[in-house]
Amino acid sequence: MKYSPGRHFLQIPGPTNTPLPILAAVGKPTIDHRGPEFAELGLNVLKRIRSVFKTNRPVIIYPTSGSGAWEAALVNTLSPGDRILMFETGWFSTLWAKMTKALGLEPEIISGDWRSGVDAGVMEAHLRADKQHAIRAVAVVHNETSTGVASDIAAVRRAIDDAKHPALLLVDTISSLASIDYRHDEWGVDVTVGGSQKGLMLPPGLAFNAISEKAIEASKSAKLPRSFLGWDEMLASNASGFFPYTPSTNLLQGLKVALDLIEEEGLDEIFARHDRAALAIRRAAEQWGFEIQCRNPSQFSSSLTAVRLPEGYSADALRSEVLQRTNMSLGNGLGPLADRVFRIGHLGDFSTASMLGTLAAVELGLKARGIPYGRGGVDAAGDILLGNSSPIAESA
Ligand code: PLP
Repeated sequence: MKYSPGRHFLQIPGPTNTPLPILAAVGKPTIDHRGPEFAELGLNVLKRIRSVFKTNRPVIIYPTSGSGAWEAALVNTLSPGDRILMFETGWFSTLWAKMTKALGLEPEIISGDWRSGVDAGVMEAHLRADKQHAIRAVAVVHNETSTGVASDIAAVRRAIDDAKHPALLLVDTISSLASIDYRHDEWGVDVTVGGSQKGLMLPPGLAFNAISEKAIEASKSAKLPRSFLGWDEMLASNASGFFPYTPSTNLLQGLKVALDLIEEEGLDEIFARHDRAALAIRRAAEQWGFEIQCRNPSQFSSSLTAVRLPEGYSADALRSEVLQRTNMSLGNGLGPLADRVFRIGHLGDFSTASMLGTLAAVELGLKARGIPYGRGGVDAAGDILLGNSSPIAESA
C-alpha cells in the first residue's frame, strides 16, 4: 500500500496505539534470557504487573495472544467433561465457549442479546439449581469487545457466594485491563485472563493469567492435558525471574516501560480518562442521532463504543471511507453485527486531541458517504472533555 503521510489513527478496540517510549524499549537489542540482566527484568515485571490486576499473588506471563491465556485458564484448572457455566455477551464469550467444547469441557451457556452484560441473577439461579455442584467453573468476559458492554464482576462473585456454590470464577479482562477498574483479589476471581495489546499499550504477543490460591489448588487435580501452558513449571522458573522457555524478551522490555507509564499516570486517573473519553464518544453518537449497541447505561464500556448505523447504511463502507480519506482505522462489527456497527476504540494511549480527531474523522466519513447525521458531535464531545457537562446526567 502507498504510504499515507501523518500518523495512522488506530482507533480499533485493540491492538492500540503504542507510545514511543514503549516502542523504543521493545526495539532495544535483545538480551540473554538466561543472564543476570534478564533476571532483574523478569523479577521487576512479574512483581509490578500484579498491581494492574490488583492482586498480591502471582501473575503468569505467556508469549501468546489472549486466546492462549483463555486456554491456559481452562487447561490448568479443569478436567475432561467438566461443566462450565458461561454467559453469552457477544462474539468473545462465544469464542471462549467454543474453545471449552474443543477442549472436551461441557459449557452451559446462558443466552444473551449481545446488547447487555452478564445477568448475575440468572447465573445465581443456574448455580442454585446445580445441587450436586457439577458446575466446576463460571467463566465470563468483563468487557465484551464486540458490543462495548461491561459486566459487573463483583455481582457475579456475589451470585456464586449467595448460591453457596464452590465453582471457580474465571474472568476475561482482555479489553478492560488497565482501562476499566478491575480487582482480582477483592472480587475473589480465581483466574483473570489478560492481554498486552489493549490497555497495557504494548504490541500483541503477551498474555496473562492472574491466579488465586484456590486456582492453584484446582490445578493440582485438573486433568486436561497441558504442557507449554502449565502453571507449575512457569511458577517455579518465575521465582528467580526466568521462564521455562525463551520468553518474548523484547515485549517484556516494553512491559517494564508500560508499567512505568501506568504508575506515573496512576490507575485511578487512567480509569477516569477512559470514563471521560467514553462519555464524550457517547455524547457525539447521541448528537449524530445514532444508537449505541449497549442498551444498559450501567454497563456502558469505558474502553470502546459500538455505534449502530441507521438501517440501510453499511458500517463497513463507512469504515473504508474513513480509512481511505483520513488514514484512521475503526473496528468492524463481528458475527451478527458485521456491517451493522462500527466500533470506536478509546483505550490505552490516547489524548483529548486524538479523541476529537477520531470523532471529526468519523463525521467526515459520514458526510462523504451521504449518511444523514446530526451536526455537532465533535462539539458535544468537546464539552465533556472540557468538563462543561455533568457526566451524572447520563446515568440518570
Ligand atoms: N477476549 C476479548 C474480550 C477480546 O477482545 C479478544 C481479542 O480482541 C480476545 C479475547 C482474544 O484475544 P486474542 O485475539 O489476543 O487471542
